[in-house]
Amino acid sequence: PIHRRYNFCAGPAALPTAVLERARDELLDYHGRGLSVMEMSHRGEDFVAIAEQAEADLRELLAIPDNYRVLFTQGGASLQFAAVPYNLLGHGGSANFLYTGIWGKKAMAEARHLFGGAPVAASSEASGHTEVPRQSDIVLSDDAAYLHYTANETIGGLAFDYVPEAVQPDGREVPLVCDMSSSILSGALDVSKFGVIYAGAQKNIGPAGLVVVIVREDLLDRARADMPSLLGYKTLAEAGSMVNTPATYSWYLAGLVFQWLKNDIGGLAAMDAINRRKAETLYAAIDASDFYANPIARRNRSRMNIPFVLADDRLDEPFLEEAEAAGLLNLKGHRSVGGMRASLYNAVPEAAVEALVDFMADFEKRKG
Ligand code: PMP
Repeated sequence: PIHRRYNFCAGPAALPTAVLERARDELLDYHGRGLSVMEMSHRGEDFVAIAEQAEADLRELLAIPDNYRVLFTQGGASLQFAAVPYNLLGHGGSANFLYTGIWGKKAMAEARHLFGGAPVAASSEASGHTEVPRQSDIVLSDDAAYLHYTANETIGGLAFDYVPEAVQPDGREVPLVCDMSSSILSGALDVSKFGVIYAGAQKNIGPAGLVVVIVREDLLDRARADMPSLLGYKTLAEAGSMVNTPATYSWYLAGLVFQWLKNDIGGLAAMDAINRRKAETLYAAIDASDFYANPIARRNRSRMNIPFVLADDRLDEPFLEEAEAAGLLNLKGHRSVGGMRASLYNAVPEAAVEALVDFMADFEKRKG
């Protein structure tokens, strides 16, 4: 019999079992067509229908306004670190950044590498990235063309508890760009506050190999002339994201995840409540013990990625080995920070978190 263990991986992350079962059932023969979705022409009727349904379901889930285009592209969230400045700096100006951790730093480094500048409008560095800047800390450069931030820092476990406003002292607003790779679809979202949202798929959307970009239409005409054409939001939008061969199977699986969110979970308000309960359960267990600790300011604790350390790091290896033996996978923290990290994305069930806190209490009793 198939035995799926609890997977706390930060990405590629757990997928809903129901989604994988449906993909399995449709794998060899999609809807009686006698072939797999993987083997279909991306321009054929069947795949175009799959692609359009996925976009329609994503639009419904996130209530994406009509003046936004949805792109299904490739290259990981990391290629968006380049695509965003190429697409938005065509009229001059500089990319501004909120610096709250490793992913934001990489985005900033790429913008600098390509076009120089890229001032920091506010940073959480002084706190060791344990607390995000307040709105009143944000100071845009005079020539700011947009403000970029990372809604949820996947490695640090640091999340914004508000949507920043990107406004100059004279009231002029600049587009807000958000890397939502590790938090998109974890709850409802007011898309109208953003100029560009992008997210790598391999956490809450589907398998790796796909990136979703949501871009406001009036920003499609700001691209630099020297931009590689495949990075262009306008080009992608006009071609229905089929400038070249898209990541068809990942796109199909993302569509199945969107249907699971709509039909099995009941939408993003329901998902939000489940995610809140999961995170509260794990933080409560960490906070109730002197053996486990998480350093993040309460208001900025991530619900998706929860790092924690053990009081004695010589117990890290035994913890991980015993956790794995107990069916709890991928709890090792990012190589750059050590310790543990439990990623509680949408597809991680509440039972997984219950099993984790039970294991943690038992481990502490025996070793603490
Ligand atoms: N941004 C964030 C917030 C991430 O968590 C990640 C991946 N963990 C990335 C960007 C990079 O994504 P990719 O590997 O798809 O390029």
